[in-house]
Amino acid sequence: CDTLDKATAFIKSHNGQISLRNFVGGQYRSPRNSSAESSQCINSFEPKTGRLICTLPCTQPDAVEDAIRSARSAFPTWSKTTRAERSAILRRVSELLQEHRELFAIWESIDQGKTLERARIEVDRAISNFSYFSTFILHEQTAARMVDGVALTYEHRSPAGVFALISPWNMPLYLLTWKIAPCLAFGCTAVAKPSEVTSMTAFLLGEIFQKAGVPPGVINIILGDGVTTGAALVASTLINGVSFTGGTQTGIAIRRLTAHQIGKHLSLELGGKNPTLVFADSMESSVRERTIRVAAMAAFENQGEICLCGSRVYVEKSVYQDFVREFTSYVKAKYIMGQTVGAVASLQHYDKIRRYLELAVEQKATFHLGSAPPALAQKEAQGYWVEPTILTDVAKDSAVQIDEIFGPVVTITPFETEEEAVQLANDSEYGLAAILLTTNGARMRRVGEQLEAGLVWINCWLVRELGTPFGGMKNSGTGREGGEHSRDVFTVVRTLHLPA
Ligand code: NAD
Repeated sequence: CDTLDKATAFIKSHNGQISLRNFVGGQYRSPRNSSAESSQCINSFEPKTGRLICTLPCTQPDAVEDAIRSARSAFPTWSKTTRAERSAILRRVSELLQEHRELFAIWESIDQGKTLERARIEVDRAISNFSYFSTFILHEQTAARMVDGVALTYEHRSPAGVFALISPWNMPLYLLTWKIAPCLAFGCTAVAKPSEVTSMTAFLLGEIFQKAGVPPGVINIILGDGVTTGAALVASTLINGVSFTGGTQTGIAIRRLTAHQIGKHLSLELGGKNPTLVFADSMESSVRERTIRVAAMAAFENQGEICLCGSRVYVEKSVYQDFVREFTSYVKAKYIMGQTVGAVASLQHYDKIRRYLELAVEQKATFHLGSAPPALAQKEAQGYWVEPTILTDVAKDSAVQIDEIFGPVVTITPFETEEEAVQLANDSEYGLAAILLTTNGARMRRVGEQLEAGLVWINCWLVRELGTPFGGMKNSGTGREGGEHSRDVFTVVRTLHLPA
């Protein structure tokens, strides 16, 4: 907490005067020496208090190109370093992050609004991203086959080039490093851009890369918004691939921007409106506590600002009333604003959530928890606070039920049969994740295999192993990341045929 006090005092004393800069060619730089417009600034606010904490440049297209050229000039050497060398450098990055774990967690919590406890979990995951891929590349295997004794064929992979790595504001450090670590491990170089809403920990990362001995230009971090900086980055013909995590509409824009560049690698991890299915057997006394806990965690962890959150809960009719009552009292006791619940990420996002809550009132939904406008109005709270909100009686065709709200808002709806549960769960443009709560082993597989979701968690949530394929179906994205799936994103493969 000493560090927390220092960080808070630092913010107070600087009063919005912390100026974040780009990290290009191994150095921190202001992009002002290109066009006059490059010095345009974006203000960034602390969600818990609403005060200005820092400014960042809105990097303009010419300065974006400088960063891409820096990554391009580093590529020929970095792509030829041995795996052992790359592994050692990435290992060092993970060690340095570990040394500065608390500092990163505190800044992440200040910048994003999440609780410090949640921020620590995510910094630990960022550390794992580097340690995992630093060893993964040492154990890769290449497939070779003899074809009818006539020819030997084998796969040869090489780094795919220079990547644009773009991340959203909900888990800033974790999601950006989920891209940077494999990109560098597989021998590519990159220009990374965090969200303009939460750029602080990406800014701090530059120094970690310097200290770890990552050669200049291998990783460049530029700051700025989506329409100017992000769009210039993904559209550049000097970029060989894009790994993007963010909203579905932005994913569609990126597809458009790159449509004429067929060979460009595209990995799009997009939005979700994920179902949680609660079957009656999961409310039996031996597992009841787990069911409530998992459904609540899936709904409200990180204020519901996780793409994998289960925000549409469907409950078998025979236990519906019990579930609503017990779920509500559990959430009320466990998810407390300022303790286990943080603030939502920005004023813009707060306003978006508030509009959905007002719509729920207009449409006569029942509020079991929460209200519209949120009880602590923004003005009064001096921050962007939305209490956990539990709604029932929400119409199937309501925007509250259909759209990704991406906040601490959950709807609960009854179902009668297993078929209906599957049909309701799949009735969405999204297909990222699903949570299945049941004790029936046959049903776990039967229902689990019918769900249109890239990830299905059964009686658990957010369990991750970094080698498993991560990604969504339908409008939740294209491509998979994780272990060898990340290798597919960041390498090109050619098959060689040699006469036997
Ligand atoms: P967003 O799409 O608005 O922004 C994401 C990033 O894209 C930001 O860095 C932004 O500056 C940039 N960007 C915006 N327009 C761009 C453009 N035209 N070209 C290039 N870059 C552009 O998303 P957000 O509001 O920051 O994040 C919330 C969304 O992210 C939610 O939909 C959530 O579900 C999704 N998300 C998905 C995953 C996943 O793994 N599938 C994980 C976390 C968040």
